[in-house]
Amino acid sequence: MRRTQEQIEWDELFAVGSVEDIPSIVATDLYSKGAPQGRLSRRWSLGDDAYVSISARPEEQRATCSVTAKFGPDLMRFSRNIEVTWTRVGRASRRAWIHCGAMGCDRKCHRLYIVANNLVCRQCAGLRYESKNRPAHDRSRVRADKLRGRLGAEPGFGAPLPSIKPKGMHRSTFDRLCHDLYEEERRFAELLPPVVERQVAALLKRLEALEKKQGAALRLSGSSSIAAPDL
Ligand SMILES: [Zn+2]
Repeated sequence: MRRTQEQIEWDELFAVGSVEDIPSIVATDLYSKGAPQGRLSRRWSLGDDAYVSISARPEEQRATCSVTAKFGPDLMRFSRNIEVTWTRVGRASRRAWIHCGAMGCDRKCHRLYIVANNLVCRQCAGLRYESKNRPAHDRSRVRADKLRGRLGAEPGFGAPLPSIKPKGMHRSTFDRLCHDLYEEERRFAELLPPVVERQVAALLKRLEALEKKQGAALRLSGSSSIAAPDL
């Protein structure tokens, strides 16, 4: 049961379309100037109480990686030994490649992605999610909620956005994320299956009627809004 829940969480976080969103490590973080570097530690925050972190120790022929993923109360840890090979660069130097850990792949790569309980190449990371066959509107909703998380907003189509940007975020990033979210939610609305669209329209109509009915009372109490439906 616990495993299933973890899998759902991973899929929610990473089945969002582009591999650029997936935590990853690159060979040059571990190896530079033709030699293994010191231990590498990295952490990716994935919203409230959720993160992925990696600690990697590069050696001549392998890199030992320990990954921790936390999603609220769920904690997952795994370790992998990544195979390392070298190619000559000019007469005096060499370059390291890190190998995909997916079974039957072994592609030598510059970058590996942390997916489920493995470190894999771009192709293996992509294939995994393409095979999910998640409906387009669902993928769009997940992308939108992920953007909402970065903006510090509640999940859910049409839920209010904060008027101030999260602490430490650049204004340009905030504006870009707001724009991306607007575009994503517009796409989501367009992708909604007709049956859901009718349900949403009926729900909005009921809310509108309720708001009218309660208008006088709301004005008296100073409250003025009704929460957006959670889709
Ligand atoms: Zn691969």
